[in-house]
Amino acid sequence: MESTYLRKWFVVEFVNLDIEDKNEFKVFVEKWMPKYSPLHTIPDELHVPLMFQEIRNITSDFIDFDVLVEHRKVFLKIQSDLRHILTDFTNTAALNATKSERYKINNLVSDDSIQKLNERLEKIRFTLKSQYVDGTFLQVITPDISDFETSLYYNFIQYTTAHPSLLVCAGCKKYISKPSYYQFANARKGYATFHANDFCRQDYTREKDRIRKRKGENT
Ligand SMILES: [Zn+2]
Repeated sequence: MESTYLRKWFVVEFVNLDIEDKNEFKVFVEKWMPKYSPLHTIPDELHVPLMFQEIRNITSDFIDFDVLVEHRKVFLKIQSDLRHILTDFTNTAALNATKSERYKINNLVSDDSIQKLNERLEKIRFTLKSQYVDGTFLQVITPDISDFETSLYYNFIQYTTAHPSLLVCAGCKKYISKPSYYQFANARKGYATFHANDFCRQDYTREKDRIRKRKGENT
């Protein structure tokens, strides 16, 4: 199985997504569209089919890609609730780090979010399925997830078991969906963290230069 440290996280990319932007939404869905498989047992392959399912609940139209894009604002509320939880998770991790060793408290979210998060977590069920893998029938315990929002929170659980917090890129201010050991170590030392592309670092450096120059002019 792919290392969680080398993995892109749907839940993080979904929160970064500008749903109002039609093109950005299209690119996002195309990127996460599963390859055809009669057994959707890989949770990452479930998200997009469940997005289609969500639209099927509100319109009787034949749901194709364009209809999904047209109704994309349905996902704004789900995104905003999720963003709230992820922001809380990020802030709580920062707060945990400030606590003294003697009274170590490691909360996942603040008291305000516990009930909201629990309401979503209780929808996650597991079931035993038979899978045919490389010539062998295997019985595996898999999540039995029937709606898009629940699939997001299942992915969030997976994220929290792999990573202690979310990393925000100092360049574009969005979350990093594929955080590495190196980026976490950097963040712990208090250094600015960036997406693994040149643009985000350059943007940040340029902005810092601008501020430095402006300060220089004033003195
Ligand atoms: Zn960035």
